[in-house]
Amino acid sequence: MDTLESEYEALLQFLYLAPVGIVQTALDGSIAMINPLSAQLLMPLSRDGTLDNLFDALEQVAPELRNLVSQFPQAHGTVCDSLRVQLSAGIPGKKDARMLSLTVLKLDDSRLMAVISDITQAVKRERQLKQSEAWFSAVLTGITDYALMSLDPSGRIESWNQSIARVTGYSERSVIGRPISLFHPPGAITSDRIADRLVEADANGWSLDNGWCMRADGSRFWANTMIAPLSRDDDLPEEERGYALIIRDITDKREAGDSLLRASACDYLTGIANRRTFFEAAELELERWRRFPRPLSVVVIDADFFKQINDSWGHPAGDEVLRNLAQTLSATVREIDVVARLGGEEFAALLPSTDLEGALKLAERFRTAVEGQQVMVGGQEIRYTVSVGVASMDSQVSGMDQLLKLADSALYAAKKAGRNRVWHKRADHVLAGLEDGAV
Ligand code: GH3
Ligand code: MG
Ligand code: MG
Repeated sequence: MDTLESEYEALLQFLYLAPVGIVQTALDGSIAMINPLSAQLLMPLSRDGTLDNLFDALEQVAPELRNLVSQFPQAHGTVCDSLRVQLSAGIPGKKDARMLSLTVLKLDDSRLMAVISDITQAVKRERQLKQSEAWFSAVLTGITDYALMSLDPSGRIESWNQSIARVTGYSERSVIGRPISLFHPPGAITSDRIADRLVEADANGWSLDNGWCMRADGSRFWANTMIAPLSRDDDLPEEERGYALIIRDITDKREAGDSLLRASACDYLTGIANRRTFFEAAELELERWRRFPRPLSVVVIDADFFKQINDSWGHPAGDEVLRNLAQTLSATVREIDVVARLGGEEFAALLPSTDLEGALKLAERFRTAVEGQQVMVGGQEIRYTVSVGVASMDSQVSGMDQLLKLADSALYAAKKAGRNRVWHKRADHVLAGLEDGAV
């Protein structure tokens, strides 16, 4: 990827989270791209809950816009500059009038770019805002790989713009009322995870994630998904709150660096994530956890009597067992979990949105699955077992190091207790000098 392109990508990421609303439309106002802030600002103006057309959305408050555009004589240029759009009347001395500032640029004979800001609270900063608007509009070019939809408070799809069909291949009728897991490969996202993301969006103003999404025909694309609350008004009754979901297909950007990334992120023997990738993912999850605490568990695994396996069957046979272990582990977890080989015959799994109970269940399922494996090497059948240590994040755990230490000491206990078992440790028990148990 050349520098210009990666700079452009960084810029897009920034705009995506930009403190200024950005909408790209066709000359008839139909929306091709919209960032979360614009969705937040414009959604209250929509009469039917959809945001397909900018002119329609602004019909009541800026009816002149359509004409301004159609009568704009030049091939490109500024259609209107910082047009003030009053959304609601103020109450003198009590409440400011709600006011948006709207700048519309004609980019070429088929595209408009609108820059929207809420100037209700920011009239004093107007000059600065104008500067940032000018800056944004100067660097923007066409971006059309966005799909926007609105979600009800439980995360079900209420409405969406037309570009969703282009990005996901679904027709509007087939998705209304369905959960957003529809856009993910089976098992890639759980209802708990969706609920977590909605709560995170409420708490932080947004929830951003990268991952595989799936089109209607089953094909996959790598996507950047953002969920933002439609209103941050705490007075709204819960059933009237909702969210905007934006899905951005970033497959192209990912593929460029993908093979390189894979080579440095994966373990050469088993093909699953390596130690470095695991710790990177773990730090990211931990950051999320700090912003918004929710269940997060880690499982560490060590093959039992592995030295004996090598000694009896040979090192290549041992390698085959490690590959089998990695496959069995990957097959046991969900797609959002990160499984990695930490080194030698030690593995780990990071389980977001999973509490201790859930992690213990998974660990036990994995232990039993391994017990049932028959690894065939040179016509010989090798059986093996694993010991597993489990720990969950809570306020008494200071960080990833300590979480892994807890899981490691649980693993050690499992070994001491005779191997082929799952053990867990809890930080509060360690502090209180209590023993934790096996499953
Ligand atoms: P325990 O049940 O206590 O874990 O016993 P163990 O024999 O599994 O543990 P120990 O740590 O004594 O031995 C680990 C062995 O794993 C020793 C090492 O040669 C072997 N090993 C480490 N990495 C690899 C590898 O990549 N391939 C193979 N085949 N063996 C490996
Ligand atoms: Mg070991
Ligand atoms: Mg071992």
